Amino acid sequence: MTTDKTAQRMRTRITGGTIIAYRDGGHRILNDGVVVFEGRDIVHVGPGYEGPADRTIDAKGKLVIPGFVSTHAHVNAHEGSRLIFDLGRRDVMRSGFLNYTPNNPRDDRPFVAAADTRASIRFGFAQLIRNGITTVLSFGAGSADVSGVMMEAADESGMRVYFAPQATSAENRFDEDGRLHPVWDEQRGFTQLEKAVRFVQDNNGRFEGRLQGLINVRNYVLATVPLMKTAKKAADDLDVLFTTHFCEQLFEFHETVRRYGITPVDLMEQEGLLGPNVILAHSVYIAGHSATTWEFSSDLEKLGRSGSVVAYCPVAYLRRGYNLEHFDSYRAHGVTMSMGTDVMPHDMLEEMRTGALTQKLQGKSNELGTAGAVFEAATLGGAKAFRREDIGRIAAGAKADIVIMDFDNLQIGPVYDPIRSLVHLATPDLIETVICDGEVLMEDGVLTRYDERELIEGGKRSFQQIVDQFSDRHWSGKPIRDVFPVTYPDW
Ligand SMILES: [Zn+2]
Repeated sequence: MTTDKTAQRMRTRITGGTIIAYRDGGHRILNDGVVVFEGRDIVHVGPGYEGPADRTIDAKGKLVIPGFVSTHAHVNAHEGSRLIFDLGRRDVMRSGFLNYTPNNPRDDRPFVAAADTRASIRFGFAQLIRNGITTVLSFGAGSADVSGVMMEAADESGMRVYFAPQATSAENRFDEDGRLHPVWDEQRGFTQLEKAVRFVQDNNGRFEGRLQGLINVRNYVLATVPLMKTAKKAADDLDVLFTTHFCEQLFEFHETVRRYGITPVDLMEQEGLLGPNVILAHSVYIAGHSATTWEFSSDLEKLGRSGSVVAYCPVAYLRRGYNLEHFDSYRAHGVTMSMGTDVMPHDMLEEMRTGALTQKLQGKSNELGTAGAVFEAATLGGAKAFRREDIGRIAAGAKADIVIMDFDNLQIGPVYDPIRSLVHLATPDLIETVICDGEVLMEDGVLTRYDERELIEGGKRSFQQIVDQFSDRHWSGKPIRDVFPVTYPDW
């Protein structure tokens, strides 16, 4: 899947559009501008361009933005998590049931894991591209070890992918009464971690630099402190990122307070587990969140001072009836706020809009959750999360990761502030062209590396097997419709 030498040298100019271009440390609005890229890199951005070009993309009436960066995404078709679990479980208190999809005794996989892992992961990558995302932290796909398939699918996608197999000290299981229990095996976590370190050493920089390894401890609340410390040290030694699900569920907060007498952020700081190479997926329930009833620690100051990153994924929270509070305050404290798309539909436009609207509602102020704040999180915030200055922006010297959207239509209407129109009006079907690393991955709405029909059929096939096997895998032995009723009864 490598482009040939001719394509690498080819010079492309994008003309006539409204470009969100980067200059002097921030995004700028460049009307009727030109972006020129050659091979993988942007070589010129400005109001005009006199030089030669092998190909021209006419972007009149279009908005040209950097490819979105998703710092937390489960790249798959979400057969179980989206289609079956939307109701969640009462005993995990509305929060993060997706991380609690317990393993079944039959094959020790999450009982709704994709039945066809390859089809599921390919579906996920294609969906990310269709939504204008060019860089993703792929957190894994709900099966114990999907590295081989993930690597193959990542290469095929043409996207920038941050990935490594996960380590965990515990797995959740159902007991025969349907209660959830973590089953601890600390040594297994260390073995998984060693494997992850080898993965990073062997794979960092593959696919012409599009693949980057990292260290991934699946879940703060399912990891022992020694595993976390060893993982963080490994990330530091390898000079890669360290990521984990962190305080997505309320009980994580209170369990830590009960066990250690301090908050999870306090504990992370005390154990040296924060820093600019740390991406905390969610970080919702911290001191100061109204549901914690805990105002006694300065968690935000600690997160900010350490330079840690938060991946904000509002759609997944809202579906379960909660939210990260004080997004703007995280930013004001110096926390690097980035956006994750987490689960299907990996729609960054929806994430930005939901994030903006809910911050206004939660803070009871129209001045909070600005379009600029969420757009920055989805672009420059993501770049900072990955400690890069060559993505999340359209600038000479940056990678040619570019999205072109139809911005002259009934949905968008007249435009005064293109970023407000983008965040509050735009829909993914307006995304026409997606370029990553100088290669066109979607052109006029057609994916260039996939047969989209085949991908859709693959996702459906994988889901149907879960449905068919449900009563074997679920502790109750009941058919799926008894456990998770659909909205209306059958005719
Ligand atoms: Zn997640």
